[in-house]
Amino acid sequence: TQFLDISGLCARIDADGQEKEILKGVDLSIPPGEVHAIMGPNGSGKSTLSYVLAGREDYEVTAGTVNFQGKDLLEMEPEERAAAGLFLAFQSPIELPGVNNANFLRTAVNAVRRARGKDELDAVTFLKTARAAAKELSMAPDMLKRNVNVGFSGGEKKRNEVLQMTLLEPSFAILDETDSGLDVDALRIVAEGVNRLRSPSFSALVITHHQRLLDYLVPDRIHVMAKGRIIHSGGPELAQQIDREGYTRFLAEAEAA
Ligand code: ADP
Ligand code: MG
Ligand code: MG
Repeated sequence: TQFLDISGLCARIDADGQEKEILKGVDLSIPPGEVHAIMGPNGSGKSTLSYVLAGREDYEVTAGTVNFQGKDLLEMEPEERAAAGLFLAFQSPIELPGVNNANFLRTAVNAVRRARGKDELDAVTFLKTARAAAKELSMAPDMLKRNVNVGFSGGEKKRNEVLQMTLLEPSFAILDETDSGLDVDALRIVAEGVNRLRSPSFSALVITHHQRLLDYLVPDRIHVMAKGRIIHSGGPELAQQIDREGYTRFLAEAEAA
């Protein structure tokens, strides 16, 4: 068995009293140590898939299974998912005036450490680790002292998110890079953050419309999602093909099948 196995996953949302089926049988497996990307037209269900994996309550799973490291992911509370090593990047990082960034990060890290049965880190030990990680990410030293995301530039928010991911030591990260306003620097920050974590005990699922992101972060596999399903999968060369030809051919092939 694999590290992450999604099979026949269907999910819907209650939109203004109307049940709306969004995921219509997603099949996807990610082996340990691999980075996979999902691309696809707008409205395909890419973000919905990441929310369902993260355990967001407004989505109802109506069929299918998700096995994560031998456990039924769908039965786990969001905190249990985090304890088991799942990390979901926030799409629009929240600003927290009056909350010190280092304290905020330490609280998040210690919550996960407690849940994993590890000792909590004291402020001094944590700061040492956080400063070293921040330096690796070329973050300005004062970013740990500032209020969470307050007045951070887009690139600084991205770096802070990647710092958080790094410090939480996930075994599986889901990054949904929905923001079409992400500039090339931000894409590079995300890609470098993921590349730095690459190891046999780290896998990631990167959702993006940005072919550029995949230039920096060469995924092991790319999946095309459309109309609530994975309709095509291939190697990293698929990114260039999609860039040249768009999704039309895959959509037509899926219709024909
Ligand atoms: P993608 O990330 O691929 O662009 P999404 O998962 O955001 O796609 O959305 C898939 C479909 O589900 C879209 O048609 C979208 O309008 C719909 N959808 C997603 N979330 C909601 C919601 N909260 N209420 C109503 N419709 C939604
Ligand atoms: Mg979208
Ligand atoms: Mg989306």
